[in-house]
Amino acid sequence: MTSSSPRPTRPRVAVCGISLEASTFSPALTTAAMLAPRRGREVLDAWDFWSEGGSLADRAEWIGVLQARSIAGGAIPAEDYGQLKAEILAGLVAHVAEAPLDGLVLDIHGAAGVFGLDDMEGDLAVAVRAVVGAGCLISSGMDLHGNVSRTLAETVDLLTTYRTAPHVDWRETKERAARNLVDRLALPPGRRRPAKAWVPVPILLPGEMTSTRQEPASSLYARVPEIEALDGILDAGIWIGYPWADEPRSCAVVMVVGDDADLAMSSATTLAGELWERRAEFGFVAPTGTFDEVLAAAVASPVAPYVISDSGDNPTAGGAGDVTWTLARLLASDELAASGKRAIYASIPDAMGALAAAEAGVGADVRLQLGARVDDRHAPPVEVSGSIVAVVPSEDNLEVVVRTPTVDVVLTRRRRPYHLEADFTRLGLDPRRADIVVVKIGYLEPELFGLAADWMLALTPGGVDQDLARLGHTRIQRPMFPLDDVTSVDPVAGAVLFPGDTAG
Ligand SMILES: [Zn+2]
Repeated sequence: MTSSSPRPTRPRVAVCGISLEASTFSPALTTAAMLAPRRGREVLDAWDFWSEGGSLADRAEWIGVLQARSIAGGAIPAEDYGQLKAEILAGLVAHVAEAPLDGLVLDIHGAAGVFGLDDMEGDLAVAVRAVVGAGCLISSGMDLHGNVSRTLAETVDLLTTYRTAPHVDWRETKERAARNLVDRLALPPGRRRPAKAWVPVPILLPGEMTSTRQEPASSLYARVPEIEALDGILDAGIWIGYPWADEPRSCAVVMVVGDDADLAMSSATTLAGELWERRAEFGFVAPTGTFDEVLAAAVASPVAPYVISDSGDNPTAGGAGDVTWTLARLLASDELAASGKRAIYASIPDAMGALAAAEAGVGADVRLQLGARVDDRHAPPVEVSGSIVAVVPSEDNLEVVVRTPTVDVVLTRRRRPYHLEADFTRLGLDPRRADIVVVKIGYLEPELFGLAADWMLALTPGGVDQDLARLGHTRIQRPMFPLDDVTSVDPVAGAVLFPGDTAG
């Protein structure tokens, strides 16, 4: 290109979406306000790669429309979803009226729920497509705990997903989705759309059995970059799926996209077959037990800190977060009291309780009835009596530590995760010097995993119960592993090839 050449016009790419992981087994709601929508320029500020100076900043004219995101929870009320969707569509209509959009990044998780609607992501993708038109290329970088319906696979041109769980590659995946899009937009129209092989695999497992830190997930996911590197293949992914949504789409999915349609299909069905062959090898990431068994192990442990994952009400998977079942047992444990050990419990959300405790202030003795405001199906509010040792207000929350004879109970105004050491040290708690740390989580996030001298996963009740059979799915496809007899199942019978622009 000579210096006199005109600067090529950059493609116009809109960014929009709704990201949520929602348990349909949780009575909690996720409202539009909780999804905290970003609009316009703010949408782009969420990711550095297309912001000023970012690796993709100059590759397109990036246009933020609306992106809403919340930590996992319950489903979205239909009215709230309708509002957000209408605003996204209205924004797109306005941008399309100025000039056609060449591309669109649909920023979604993949396991959002809406009351009365299956497959929110598929519904949104179809609605968006109707506005932007067939010529616009749509790309999505998803969570591997998302569910990919046939509609979503058909409507979105470029789908990719995380390749690690815990998701240390989340940013990289979002960037890959955007980069794949601008790379394809550099091709002439009529050559941009790759073929897509979509293979639903009748497997439904919790994330705590499918961590890529261990087999068989580690070697199955290691196949993804191998397939991606093949000539004629653009991207590959394994969505292990989200089991706490009782929807027809819920199951594992393998997808491969590329210009070589035959190779995309054969690699996708091969990888799906490998996933199926190894299904019985999936097991929990840590020893599991009933809460009583796990607490007994923690009390008897010669090493500390002993971390207990209170998994059934994990707020980051979709639990309401305020199930009191475990905390009540911990506070009542004679075994713990007799051992002389102390525990940290993080956490119990209760807005009224947190405000009352904060008002009483550090040093005050309190007796509070906490939790079970949202999810009271497993246990009633729990009584916590002790002295307040910390009150830590923040912009969007209020955290209080109540010290009882055996437990430091973290009480919050709103539910939130405790994944980092700093989440504890901010409150004056030292998890490294604690005997026992109980966290509402599934598999341990890297920092907790690093500081745990030993740990176990307690199979406690709640909206994200790890014992799937206990939940009683009625709307998923059957038969489904491991809930049913699957001896006569052809695991790739549902495979579909969506042709791209380039035949063959
Ligand atoms: Zn996930």
